[in-house]
Amino acid sequence: MLVMQDVRPCVTMLMKLAGGTKRHVEWLDAEQFLNQARAYKEGLDQSMTDRFYRFMATRTTTHPFPVERARALDEWVTGPEYNNILAGSYPAAGPMMKTNSCPTCKQTAEQGTKFCSGCGTPLVTH
Ligand SMILES: [Zn+2]
Repeated sequence: MLVMQDVRPCVTMLMKLAGGTKRHVEWLDAEQFLNQARAYKEGLDQSMTDRFYRFMATRTTTHPFPVERARALDEWVTGPEYNNILAGSYPAAGPMMKTNSCPTCKQTAEQGTKFCSGCGTPLVTH
């Protein structure tokens, strides 16, 4: 989404996942799929039975339903976080990050880690 900056190909990809076959793709409409995704969320918020079935259907899967992923994507691109990232406002990683070094083996440890990955010595976190 950040690379393409266009929600349509992302939603189309999720539609293909939901449809399971390339044959029906030309029949599908990204805007309709998004409308279904929004309606799906509203329905779930209201119905306890739907929540139960959703829980049972997704408890053995590694990812949420494609329709839920489309809805989450839709919410994200219309929210402030996406626009902040595009405007260049996001947490920096890498050289800007403060690092600690292990007092025992002097190995560099990333900020926030509690133990040295080299020797296991507890690190003082400030
Ligand atoms: Zn160490």
